[in-house]
Amino acid sequence: MKIALIGYGKMGHEIEKIALQRGHSIVSIVDRDNPEALASEAFLSADVVIEFTTPDTAVQHYTYCFEHGLPIVSGTTGWLARREEVERVRKTCDGAFFYASNFSVGVYIFDLVSRHLARLMNAHDTYDVRMEEVHHIHKKDHPSGTALSLAEGILSELERKATIVPFLDSETPAIPADGLGIACSREAEVPGIHRIRYESDIDSISIEHSAKGRQGFAFGAVLAAEYLKGKKGTFGMKDMMGV
Ligand code: NAD
Repeated sequence: MKIALIGYGKMGHEIEKIALQRGHSIVSIVDRDNPEALASEAFLSADVVIEFTTPDTAVQHYTYCFEHGLPIVSGTTGWLARREEVERVRKTCDGAFFYASNFSVGVYIFDLVSRHLARLMNAHDTYDVRMEEVHHIHKKDHPSGTALSLAEGILSELERKATIVPFLDSETPAIPADGLGIACSREAEVPGIHRIRYESDIDSISIEHSAKGRQGFAFGAVLAAEYLKGKKGTFGMKDMMGV
């Protein structure tokens, strides 16, 4: 498959590696300093475009690809306030769009397991639940977007929990009975660990997802590109994973 990349930062580089390993070719790479490449013959010859840039620039790339009949996979976060506008343009152009705020197949499976566990725990109120997330020291936001999505999954299944209470692991906040505590730690170069722990007086049950790097996101984005080729419409992880 011929893939064009928009955005050649940390994710763009990782996606290039994985796409090549999977036998695809990268026909064009567009970054901030060569936007004219969007109009090149090589770029327009792509079967699918993969976009990981910035919230301010992503939507213009979507529009450009829809208008030029190019299917586009994007993982750029922070543009969702314009989701309706993007869908309107996609429909008008009969375009193909795959978006996920987290492309990791492992995190997707972990979330399904966590939701199932939360459903089971409705019948067992002797267990309390909390989450821990650990990331590298360069990450400024906390809790992570992934921790928040996982927490929302738990709240949607576990009737006795209604609010999310994030805190730094150096703090000891009072967590109300209907609160789901998320302890956030920042350590060295840890790519990302999410741990969910149910604890009773007699035992504890923990599940954990531990990323080994950015490869998980890049792998998912390349799988999404393979999935999107030849399709029309808007798709996400649920469509690709089939569950
Ligand atoms: P990065 O800063 O390393 O790379 C972004 C790249 O986009 C840079 O090379 C920059 O020059 C380029 N860029 C900026 N404006 C551009 C423009 N107008 N045209 C072309 N290129 C342009 O960031 P990153 O770590 O690669 O992440 C990129 C985005 O992906 C962020 O929004 C991040 O939150 C998101 N992300 C999503 C997932 C996921 O699974 N969905 C995973 C990791 C990162």
